[in-house]
Amino acid sequence: MAVRKKRLADYGLQSERTLMRAKGPSVFERELGADELEERLALTTVEKAVAWAQGYSIWPDTFGLACCAIEMMSIVSSRYDVARFGAEVFRSSPRQADLLIVSGRVSHKMTAPLRQIYDQMLEPKWVIAMGACASSGGMFNNYAILQGVDKIVPVDIHVPGCPPRPEALLEGIVRLQEKIHAGVPPAYEIRGVAE
Ligand code: SF4
Repeated sequence: MAVRKKRLADYGLQSERTLMRAKGPSVFERELGADELEERLALTTVEKAVAWAQGYSIWPDTFGLACCAIEMMSIVSSRYDVARFGAEVFRSSPRQADLLIVSGRVSHKMTAPLRQIYDQMLEPKWVIAMGACASSGGMFNNYAILQGVDKIVPVDIHVPGCPPRPEALLEGIVRLQEKIHAGVPPAYEIRGVAE
């Protein structure tokens, strides 16, 4: 059974060109190939286009805390090449970053600066808790270490491991991109702002 080609009018585009088939193509359309024009166009929503752009232009903050930070640094190397996913632009100012990778154990002394950096980032912003220490305190079950960074900032992605390999962090970034593209709101919207 022949499948009828969809025209732009079928998608709701009510222009003179699409409604008056007999009017004929414009010069531009003739150059482009009028018969194929509608097949070459891709329609989407502004929200989806913005989410696509946001997902593939994540700028992480330059912020390392402990051993995990060494693994984090290596994702920009040629071996792992996070540039393939559009997230290689580590920024030194939180105002230019939209991803905070908490890479390592967070001492109680460090909680206030970490929260301040998070607050200085503009929305939308995301947080990855990298490694066992950032996610839960890890092996440091003592009075000096915060038992999970989600106590002070809303976390979007937890990356397990001690330390997680660079591939694991890349996987976390890709999962975050999938969430952004799917329209899942950042953690601070879902959970409210952490106290
Ligand atoms: S998870 Fe392991 S590698 Fe990462 S900061 Fe803790 S002890 Fe270091």
